[in-house]
Amino acid sequence: MKTILLTVLLTNFLFATVKIDTTYTTAGAIAQKIGGDLVHVTVLGSSKYDPHFIVPKPSLIAKLRQADLLIINGAGLELGWLPPLLRAANNAKIQNGAKGFLDLSHYVHLINVPTTVSRAFGDVHAQGNPHYTTDPYAVLPMAKAIAQKLSQIDPQHAAQYEKNLKKFTNGWQDYLQKFDANMHTCKDKKVVQYHPLFNYFLQRYNYKIYGTIEPLPGIAPSSKHTLELINIMRDNGVKKILQDVYHEKKTAKFIASKTGAKVLIIPHDLGADSSTTLQEFYNNIAKKVCQ
Ligand SMILES: [Zn+2]
Repeated sequence: MKTILLTVLLTNFLFATVKIDTTYTTAGAIAQKIGGDLVHVTVLGSSKYDPHFIVPKPSLIAKLRQADLLIINGAGLELGWLPPLLRAANNAKIQNGAKGFLDLSHYVHLINVPTTVSRAFGDVHAQGNPHYTTDPYAVLPMAKAIAQKLSQIDPQHAAQYEKNLKKFTNGWQDYLQKFDANMHTCKDKKVVQYHPLFNYFLQRYNYKIYGTIEPLPGIAPSSKHTLELINIMRDNGVKKILQDVYHEKKTAKFIASKTGAKVLIIPHDLGADSSTTLQEFYNNIAKKVCQ
């Protein structure tokens, strides 16, 4: 009798869990905070790799097939890898526009939206800059959107999601206060980046971006562009190169040797470095940028 009861309870528990797939780790960590024990979160794309081109392994199709909710970054970041996987998974619940589909880019204000679309030349940011998750202020709109979506697809636990959101929001607001106070002590605010991964962060804290090592987002560096960038950095005394974990580092090192700048390796997503929590992720960006 006890065994039967336990089996029934366990089955109910398993079926009650909302299976969430997120494309990247930061959104996955937020979904876990809001969903708590009521959700099971799977992150599809490892933060060790280029987020524009996650390797489309068959195991990802199996994960998408089982999901009740798919949370994407949007703004084109998944265009290079997710659409064929989503088609192959053939899961009606999570297709674009279905109830179990959430595009978080709809809840933030996108910057760097091009007036003329240059995707033909390889620009991977045709819809604007998709890297808003490097801004700690994007976390709360993402959390709110996730809580609303979870309440829609699992209405019997809406009160719990609301409670989790409230607790998370209070904690994050306190964190942001301390974070801002720390950022206001930063002095040298001149930077270049490999790829425009940190524009939202840099804009919020009044950094000046003097260029990118890529001539256009997604286009490999050329010697002409590199020499131009070196000149701009010399003329303006730029001493910081923001390098991500997944691009080649040779060009940044060369530029550093010609300008006396420092190459700073910065995480673009939770877990790209040693970070295991949202706070650690943003602290690690700040630690490097604010040197
Ligand atoms: Zn990009």
